[in-house]
Formats: sequence, C-alpha cells, structure tokens
Amino acid sequence: MSGKNVTEVVQADAEGIARAARILKEGGLVAVPTETVYGLAARADSAEAVAKIYAAKGRPDFNPLIVHVRDLKHAQKLAQFDDRARDLAERFWPGPLTLVLPLREDADVAGAVTAGLPTIALRQPAHKVMRAVLETTGLALAAPSANRSEEISPTCTDHVMASLGGACPLVVDGGPSEEGVESTIVALRAGGGWSLLRPGPITIETLDRILGSESAPESLRVEAPGQLARHYSPGKPMRISAPAGEADEFFIGFGVIEGDCNLSADGDLIEAAARLYDCLHQAAASEKPRIAVAPIPYGEVGRAINDRLRRAATPTD
Ligand code: AMP
Ligand code: MG
Repeated sequence: MSGKNVTEVVQADAEGIARAARILKEGGLVAVPTETVYGLAARADSAEAVAKIYAAKGRPDFNPLIVHVRDLKHAQKLAQFDDRARDLAERFWPGPLTLVLPLREDADVAGAVTAGLPTIALRQPAHKVMRAVLETTGLALAAPSANRSEEISPTCTDHVMASLGGACPLVVDGGPSEEGVESTIVALRAGGGWSLLRPGPITIETLDRILGSESAPESLRVEAPGQLARHYSPGKPMRISAPAGEADEFFIGFGVIEGDCNLSADGDLIEAAARLYDCLHQAAASEKPRIAVAPIPYGEVGRAINDRLRRAATPTD
C-alpha cells in the first residue's frame, strides 16, 4: 500500500480504477470524481474505514455521510423505499439527488456512517469514474466532499490535493466536476411529508411538482455542519450580493458585472454552479485579504449557489 503521507494522483483508466478499488476493499481512502464535487470514499460497511474519513476531514462525528450505491437495487438493501422514494430514484438516478430514508435494520453499514440516526442518505452517482469504482468494488461507498471540514469543496484534483494532500493515498483524476455543487438532499418522512435538507442541482420547483409542497421545512432539519451557518469557508471575510468590489477585495463577478474572475460572463447559472468552487479557491489563494461576490439570481440552481455563498460568507465566532 502507498505510504501514509504520500498522495498519488492517477488517471481514471482501467489501472487507476483497479488501484482505487483495491485500496477501498482493503479499508483505505480514495478521492474519486463525481458529477457534483470530488468525494473522499471509504467502504461504508467498515467502522475502521469510515473512521478514516472523519479523521482525514476533521469532520465532527455527529455529521452523517452520504452513501453511494451502484443502483436502486443496491440502495434497497440499505434503506426502506416507499413508492415516493422509488419514483424519485427512478426519475433522477443516476444523478445529483440524495434521498434520506429510514435505515433498514439489516443494513450492512457502520454506525458512524449515519451518526447513529435511524435514517440513511443514499445516492447513485452519474459520473462514469465513480460508477466504475462502485461496480469494481461491489461495495457501498461513504463519500463526503474531499476537503477538510468547513473548507471549500473540490471540483478538480488540484483542489483535493490542496486540502487533503497527504491525508489519503490516492486521488483518481476524472477532470473537472460538471455540476460543481453538492447534490440536492431530500428527506422523505413517514406519513407523506418531505423536506429539502440541502438545495442543489435538482431544484425545489421540480421536487414541488412531483411531491407537492415541502412540509415544515425548517423544523425538521437535521443539525449538521452541511446545514449549519458556516461551511465552504474560504478562510477570509467575504461579502455577497456586492454590486462592485473594493480595492482590497478579490471580486467574483457574474454576467455583465466583471471581476477578478467571473462565474459566468453569459449569466448562465449552470456554468456559474460548475465554476463556483474554482472561483472561491482562486479568491482564497489570492493576496487580497477580503472577497466580494456579485449578486446571483435565485432561480433554478441559483438557490444552491446562494446557499453555498451565504455559508461561505458567515464569519467564525
Ligand atoms: P457531504 O457528505 O459533505 O456532502 O455532506 C453530507 C450531508 O448529508 C450533510 O449535510 C449531512 O448532514 C447530510 N446527511 C447525511 N446523512 C443524513 C441523514 N441520515 N439525515 C439527514 N442528513 C443527512
Ligand atoms: Mg462537504
């Protein structure tokens, strides 16, 4: 096995995927591309393997992990699917939708994956490299974003290396993540209600059309860092919805509002989502002591972008 403090970046060819699969089967960590962001994967059925994720990320142990599966059949071994859950999985999997469902009693997952909750978060990813890794290992893989807890999420191998270099033996290079923001998380409640736990590429308008209106969105939210005020932090003060930047600010523009970089010169929200974390990484690395971001519309994936920016702009206590 690779040395503990050396992280190797490998191509996502047959050899790279075979190496990733071998490390994962042996209970090690591998950073793998997905269509949302890069994930730090470990086998979900091993307490020791899952403990390595929490240690590498410095993640609080009360924050549960998303488990990635090959397909719906695999998912049904881990959670109880009702008609609504099956319908959502059939519509959106493989893809950027995570379902929080009642955990099956006989599910073969380590307790730390769900942080002891009676529910489990499941997703079948669409990225061909992550799918190949899931197929080759035959395992369910816990995989949060491949960055230190609270830091900016990674959408390419350079971001992973900057945050977690040395903390896992292997990173598989699948190019930049297409969606660029984390999956939409939906919790389906017994009795027919549902809540949006995290906005993402599958929009609330789309979910409303399928499930009816969201029930009691605030009160049912799980207390976890991904849903808490501060997350995705660039490590310096940040202003959002700024019409212009000041001299000491790295300014992230959008549309006709130019900046030191631009989320999308065309004002395209899908492009802006894909470029969001790269722009935040550039802003974090710049010599400017502060960051400002142009206003971003709330429609469609704009809601997820604004959600991430708001948390990134929330100062440390
Ligand atoms: P990450 O893995 O960094 O993308 O974050 C995963 C997100 O999924 C966190 O915000 C968790 O709080 C959330 N999550 C995972 N499992 C559950 C669960 N059983 N119930 C509610 N939220 C969950
Ligand atoms: Mg994360």
